[in-house]
Order: sequence, then structure tokens, then C-alpha cells
Amino acid sequence: MSYAISGECCSDASCVAVCPMNSIHPSPGEPGFGTGVSLFIDPRTCIDCGACADICPVDAAQPADQAATEDVERNAEYFAGQEPLEATDLDSWEPPSYQVWGGGPRRVLVVGAGPAGMYATRELLLRTTAEVTLVDRLDQVGGLVRYGVAPDHPSTKQIVQVFERILHHRRVRWMPGTDARELPGVAAGGSSGARRGPVDGFDAVIHAVGARRSRRLGIPGEDAACTAEDFVAWYNGRPGAVAPAELAGPRAVIVGNGNVALDVARILLSDERRLRGMDAPLDVKRRLAASGIKEVVLLGRRGPQDAAYTESALQELRSAVGDRVQLRHHARPTAWTSEGLTLDSGESIAAGNLFTAVGFEGRPIDGLPFDPDRGIVPNVRGAVVDRPGHYVAGWIKRGARGGIGVNKACAQETVLTLVSSSRVPASPGS
Ligand SMILES: Cc1cc2nc3c(=O)[nH]c(=O)nc-3n(C[C@H](O)[C@H](O)[C@H](O)COP(=O)(O)OP(=O)(O)OC[C@H]3O[C@@H](n4cnc5c(N)ncnc54)[C@H](O)[C@@H]3O)c2cc1C
Ligand code: SF4
Ligand code: SF4
Repeated sequence: MSYAISGECCSDASCVAVCPMNSIHPSPGEPGFGTGVSLFIDPRTCIDCGACADICPVDAAQPADQAATEDVERNAEYFAGQEPLEATDLDSWEPPSYQVWGGGPRRVLVVGAGPAGMYATRELLLRTTAEVTLVDRLDQVGGLVRYGVAPDHPSTKQIVQVFERILHHRRVRWMPGTDARELPGVAAGGSSGARRGPVDGFDAVIHAVGARRSRRLGIPGEDAACTAEDFVAWYNGRPGAVAPAELAGPRAVIVGNGNVALDVARILLSDERRLRGMDAPLDVKRRLAASGIKEVVLLGRRGPQDAAYTESALQELRSAVGDRVQLRHHARPTAWTSEGLTLDSGESIAAGNLFTAVGFEGRPIDGLPFDPDRGIVPNVRGAVVDRPGHYVAGWIKRGARGGIGVNKACAQETVLTLVSSSRVPASPGS
């Protein structure tokens, strides 16, 4: 599926900045932009991530199956006869905009190869002459796109191929399987509250480590539940992910009402035919098929008007699993036992498994300040407060919300801040 833009579009180009695939045209600088005509989405490259719809002020961007047929056709026609544009065509990039920034070796360390780290790297290559060392403790790029996005959303996962191309740039040094905390000097990047510079050997560090720790419910028995963090890592085959101890039907309860809770419900209730088409490890598919889970109860603390999931995610769930999912609102769990889940109303829901999907939060980074309430590193437009040379991007900068595309604008802001604070007048021979 792709998205399509309707005639309601006022062409303010907000969506162009967040589209991870460069699918929206004409963009600023291209012929036709600013002439009052609406923008269009190229259905051949759109990965269905929804970032354009999230940001559009007039709801002009819609999933193609919810948009009017004439809008879908109009979008496709705009691109007919043209070659699809690459999202990251490194060769066609403009020369760097900033020749000199900082007097040192112009080396930047980017920690984390999820969307935020990859967009930050791309932006550094585009805007500076810096050499970028990119590390991730995993062996692959993509972060939560590879190991979080559900395996029945293969088009969304395609962005990983775009990220992989960035690794081949001559100014990128990719160090897979490297935990930044093991690099000399990183852990001491700003210890004891002292004002310290960036870490050894680098002019700047961008921390793009995400926010993957699951929030907790704080109820007795919770330790026996499966967190969304563990479950999505398992069904996506993340190295080191722990399989749930047991998947026991016929009913499972999921606490949470965001898109991740809906992902978990959809995967749990997928029949063998759906599972077969998924890009998930074979043993995961076998265990899911044999689980005997026939029904899922989704619990939300507040009413449907406060639900955090999107309408399109709910529709997808309904069409994938029918009425085998039951939405319960205004329900607070108080205890989990092997018999089931007790609610604050005194009611008990018999179930074999409890899943918690109540959001994610960041963890503190050694040597940097941390805001425990928001689960972020305090920053001003990406510059870490009181730690010159340290920057943040993505979920550790803004908190755990927003899809893939939002990290593009977020990383661009961070790099702009970094470049602005590092730029010095060019000197001969530098
Ligand atoms: C379950 C789930 C499903 C989602 N599905 C969708 C979807 O369908 N569509 C959508 O648009 N968005 C989706 N999102 C949101 C999207 O994944 C996030 O917006 C995005 O991944 C955040 O990017 P990030 O780079 O900040 O963090 P991450 O993607 O978490 O990347 C952080 C990276 O840092 C690395 N790292 C962490 N600590 C260290 C360290 N000490 N040293 C080295 N490396 C380190 C990690 O290994 C990871 O690769 C989903 C999120 C979740 C949780
Ligand atoms: S954000 Fe909405 S109104 Fe603005 S250009 Fe994109 S589709 Fe049009
Ligand atoms: S933002 Fe996402 S959904 Fe919108 S056009 Fe780009 S790739 Fe497609």
C-alpha cells in the first residue's frame, strides 16, 4: 500500500521534510513547487510509514485504501513516465555546504544506527566534510525499524535498504557490534557534573541510542508478563532476544492502547496463512501458529477518545483478525496471576498470557544529564545541556513517540545545531 495526497493539500511542504523515502514532489527547489498545485506521492517508492499523514495540517495525506480513487490515480499519474527517485542517491548530493567547522580533525561519532543515527549521518555527509564513525551494539543498521516494526509490514522495513547504502559512503566508518560504552573516553564524556568537551578523538558525538526500555505497570505479578520490548524483539528475530516462556491460549490480554499494542494483537492472532507471508524466523512462526491464542483483550486506562493508536492501525487490525479482538476502555489492571488479570473494578479476566505495551522510555547515558520524568537527555535543539560537543537525536532526544519519518526532521535539527555551534571562519589550507 502507499499514501496519496488529495486536492485539499495547501502545499506547505511539511510532509516533504519527514518523508524518509523522498517520495513527495514537487519539493522545494523542484519545478512546479510553489505554484499552488498540490504535492503528490510516488506510489512506487512510498513505504507506507504514515509520517506525511501525521504531520499534514489539513489531513490531505491518506493511506491509498482510504483515499478517493481519483486522488490515488492523480498521484500515480504525476510520476508516470519518470524514473523513480532514489531516497538516498549519494552521488547526486550537492557539495558540502560548510567547508570548515571546528579546528580539529573534523571527526564525528554517531552512536546508534536506528533511524535517528542514520538520518544524522546522512545529514552530516550532506552538509559537512566531516568523517563519521557510526557504531551500533547490534550487527545491523535499522534499530527499531528492523527489530520493532511488525514483520507483516515489509514495505515499512524497506527503509533499512536506504540506510544500508549510507554505510558505503567514503567518509563513513561503520563499526557494527560495538557498544559505545566500550569505546575509550565515551563513558567519561561529562562525568561528575563538570563541563567537559566531547570524547577523545572526536569533535562531536551524536547520541542516537533510542528509548527501548518498556514502561512498567507497577502491579503484583508483572514480572511474569511479557513486555512489548521483549515480544517484538523476539518476533523480529533480534539477536539475543528472549522467547516468551509459554504462549497459552485461548485468550491473551494486552495492556496498552498504542500502535505497538495493536501490532502485538495482530501478530498473536495471525493465522497460518498470514504467518506464512511474514518476514519472521521460522521457529517464531511455528510457535505463534501452535499457541492456541484465539482471542485478545486490549485494555486501555482511558476512553477511546484518548487511545494512542491511529485509526488506520485499528482498521488494519480489524480487517486482519476480525472480531477476535476485544477493546476494553477505562480498565486498570491491579494484579496478574496464572489465573488471569484482576481489574480495579474487581473483575477478573481469565487469560494464559499478559503482554504489556504501555510505552517506552530512554535510559541514562553515562556522563550525560538525564531527565527521568521524560526519559530523555535534556537538550536544546539537540545540543545536550551543559555538555559541549555532545548532541542527541531521535527518541532519546524527544521521548519515545513519533514514527520513522519524524526522526528525519529531528536529526536534521540536531546536525544544524551542531554545525552552527562548530562553524568557524575558513582559513587557508584548513
Ligand atoms: C514495536 C515498535 C514498532 C514500531 N513500528 C513503527 C511503524 O510501523 N512505523 C513507523 O513509522 N514507526 C514505527 N515505530 C517507531 C520507530 O521505530 C521509531 O520512531 C524509531 O525507531 C526511533 O528511532 P531512534 O533512532 O531514536 O531509535 P532506535 O530505532 O531504537 O535506534 C537506536 C539504536 O541505537 C543502538 N544503541 C543503543 N544503545 C547503544 C550503545 N550504547 N552503543 C551502541 N549502540 C547503541 C540500538 O542498538 C539501536 O540500533 C515503532 C516503534 C516500536 C517500538
Ligand atoms: S503536509 Fe499536507 S498540506 Fe502540506 S504539502 Fe504535505 S500533504 Fe500538502
Ligand atoms: S512519509 Fe511515509 S507514507 Fe508518506 S509518502 Fe513518505 S514514505 Fe509514504
